[in-house]
Amino acid sequence: MKIGVLSLHGGVIEHLNHIRNLGADAVEVKEENDLNELNGIILPGGESTTMGLLLRERGILNPLKQRILNGLPVWGTCAGMILLAKEIENDFRNHLQVMNIKVRRNAYGSQLDSFVCSYRIEKVTNEEIPLIFIRAPYIVETGREVDVIFEIDGKIVAARERNMLATSFHPELSSSLEFHRYFLNMCKEYF
Ligand code: GLN
Repeated sequence: MKIGVLSLHGGVIEHLNHIRNLGADAVEVKEENDLNELNGIILPGGESTTMGLLLRERGILNPLKQRILNGLPVWGTCAGMILLAKEIENDFRNHLQVMNIKVRRNAYGSQLDSFVCSYRIEKVTNEEIPLIFIRAPYIVETGREVDVIFEIDGKIVAARERNMLATSFHPELSSSLEFHRYFLNMCKEYF
């Protein structure tokens, strides 16, 4: 298995390490050619406007969008979730627009309102894992084909639509490998 991590900006190294710790190959994706022969791609956290700009500047936005539409498994964490969304409630910008979700950016407030909590997410793992929210978005609306994976206080913070996974939080910043294991299994389904 070879998993790419979009490496234009944001929290890249932690995703690479988690994937490698699970015994799969993890490579940085910085240009269109890097998209070849991937079994899955992770869009990390960071700042979605910056990442969207860099995706366009490097000419990766459309090739990446096509590959996702053709079934390449993708996981967006935090800003990555915003890149995937068909609609952003509080921004005029849109990026990949592949996943049938509407998201609210910075939905929990400013950087100072970042927080960590701990839950067992039945669809993903048997154990409680830490969920780290950093100026996080959440999902305010989902299309029919979207499976809600987890909600906290009625807010959707993890969801899946076929080959696309989105989480508001950052599993790569905790020591738990469970979410990355779940994504690798998703990639195997599409192999
Ligand atoms: N607030 C950022 C944005 O709107 C996302 C934050 C993150 O990825 N940790 O792009």
